[in-house]
Amino acid sequence: MFAVADHSPSISFEFFPPKTEKGWSLLEGRIGQLEQLGPSFVSVTYGAAGSTREHTHELVERLIDTTTLQPVPHLTCTGHTHDEIDAILDRYREVGVRAILALRGDPQEGHGKDAGDFRFAADLVRHLRAFSDRHRLDWSIGVAGFPEGHPDTPNALLGMEHLKAKVDAGANWICTQLFFDNRRFHDWRDRCRLERIDVPILAGIMPVTSRAGLHRMADLAAGTVFPAALLRALNRADPEDTESIAEIGVHWTTEQCRDLLDHDVDGIHFYTLNQSDATLRIHRSLGVRSAAQLRNA
Ligand SMILES: Cc1cc2nc3c(=O)[nH]c(=O)nc-3n(C[C@H](O)[C@H](O)[C@H](O)COP(=O)(O)OP(=O)(O)OC[C@H]3O[C@@H](n4cnc5c(N)ncnc54)[C@H](O)[C@@H]3O)c2cc1C
Repeated sequence: MFAVADHSPSISFEFFPPKTEKGWSLLEGRIGQLEQLGPSFVSVTYGAAGSTREHTHELVERLIDTTTLQPVPHLTCTGHTHDEIDAILDRYREVGVRAILALRGDPQEGHGKDAGDFRFAADLVRHLRAFSDRHRLDWSIGVAGFPEGHPDTPNALLGMEHLKAKVDAGANWICTQLFFDNRRFHDWRDRCRLERIDVPILAGIMPVTSRAGLHRMADLAAGTVFPAALLRALNRADPEDTESIAEIGVHWTTEQCRDLLDHDVDGIHFYTLNQSDATLRIHRSLGVRSAAQLRNA
């Protein structure tokens, strides 16, 4: 059974496929360190409109062949035909993948929003569910959730309807966009439950470890609110003192995770950016020895 089958808390990590040999060898070491924490699964991103298709597959395969980790490939459908998606799914089926994170993705420059056979992630979820049923795979399907709204969503009520459509189409769990203000997550999760979205919701977490990182996050997750208290703490630090800045970010995220666990979060998904240091420190400060121990706490 896939680890996120119920509401027992899970811990998971996201990696992206490196572009260089050096990146691969650095990642191997970090995966080795994070593997010791016994995560419920690790996810592997899919470059915009399939730009890292081969590399995503390669990393998923390496994880299966060389680690005890359960990889969950991300798959975006924008700009893809049904046949292209099926070819990717066939390869995942052959190597023993058991769960997929189904996304729309962002259309690339020059392509219309509805280029390809899929318009929204819900269409991909339906397609995946049918594929899984056809091949008797019982795949677990995850989808994205946006506690602070998605830039393309006209209003929050419609956003919730679109999220529910993905779950009704067959999604088994939700992983959120990164956020820094837990109050916004708690309120959004309550609204999900009011809409009878009852599947596990994993909180997406990314520690700020540098000032440049803060700006990259703002680009990556448009609409994310950086709380004044976090910004004040970062502003107090000497801009040249990179260690202090990383310490502040790690401290903030640790407190966020502690609060999420205290509020019975279904899971914490760390956007690692292929680093391990911050995640290891947060994990240690939480006093959690492994995801399995967290489930039994
Ligand atoms: C956890 C997570 C992982 C991600 N991983 C990747 C990755 O690996 N690669 C990558 O390229 N991107 C990734 N993304 C980014 C994601 O692909 C983009 O944010 C994308 O714009 C939205 O994807 P979605 O799956 O939420 O799309 P959808 O659920 O299809 O929603 C997209 C927009 O369409 C609207 N919508 C949905 N249904 C309807 C409808 N029936 N009528 C009208 N409007 C509708 C929604 O409200 C939303 O505004 C990730 C995001 C998250 C949160």
